Amino acid sequence: LIQLFRPLDVLGWVYRTIRQGLIDMGEMFRLIDTDIEVKDTPGAPALIIRTPTVAFDNVTFGYDPGRTILNGLSFEVPAGSTTAIVGPSGAGKSTIGRLLFRFYDPLSGRIMVGGEDIASVTQESVRAAIGIVPQDSVLFNENLSYNIAYGAEGADQAMVEQAARDAALSPLIERLPDRFETMVGERGLKLSGGEKQRVAIARTLVKNPPILLLDEATSALDTRTEQEILGTLRRIAQGRTTIAIAHRLSTIADADNILVLDHGRLVESGDHVGLLKRGGLYAEMWSRQAAERRDEDVTVDAEAA
Ligand code: ADP
Ligand code: MG
Repeated sequence: LIQLFRPLDVLGWVYRTIRQGLIDMGEMFRLIDTDIEVKDTPGAPALIIRTPTVAFDNVTFGYDPGRTILNGLSFEVPAGSTTAIVGPSGAGKSTIGRLLFRFYDPLSGRIMVGGEDIASVTQESVRAAIGIVPQDSVLFNENLSYNIAYGAEGADQAMVEQAARDAALSPLIERLPDRFETMVGERGLKLSGGEKQRVAIARTLVKNPPILLLDEATSALDTRTEQEILGTLRRIAQGRTTIAIAHRLSTIADADNILVLDHGRLVESGDHVGLLKRGGLYAEMWSRQAAERRDEDVTVDAEAA
């Protein structure tokens, strides 16, 4: 794609990419104040993905020297499959996403996308291949179309409308007087948490990435909205390579593979049934959360009565 730009467009393109890159990163990971530490190697080619696999190969990483967050982490996500990453808060789950998006480089080890080391290709091309749905999506004080097309260069209105349909935003849009031209964000129409997540999903669909990274994409939602959004996420994950970071295990129990992370180490992996049988950290987390769900049900019943 880059070769298609005429020389005069390049400066503008570079500027927009950098600016957008910054906004994206800040938005996704709330790290706006962090300096850009990662630079492309001069003359690095763009990543060309034939098979969208993801692999971490013995990755060690820490934000501060002397305190490693990930320790010798290795895993592979086969193309088109869904891998969930679970584990206690602070285990390093989101850090995996930040490294995959190449916000940082590992201290040692390699991160491979489509069989290529992401450190040897352009960051721009790596980021273009990965769609992220974070926990809280940010809306701009712009109209709905802008918010959906944001981050996808050259998205036209037809693509925006298709993505909105696929993200199940149609019922909302039908109700809006100015439909796609409705202003949203802090100074516009306030959307609910679930509606915001649907905008984020539509934004990802316009980008049409082969790889999806869901970082607690439904954990800020109430249980019913969570179920609805999970249905949409399962649908859009079809045919894509998906990494789903989750706190609530019930939302990822159907993943092809589940990685259990604790203090930056992979302590268990397998599918839900296998991990329950194992009786380790996953099984413990599962029974604790099941007990919490029962408590919630009791509370809800008591309130309803
Ligand atoms: P999780 O997503 O599993 O809850 P994170 O990957 O966000 O965990 O964080 C793992 C550890 O790294 C935590 O101890 C957290 O405090 C630390 N951490 C996260 N981001 C930064 C940062 N930008 N600088 C320093 N430490 C960080
Ligand atoms: Mg996290």
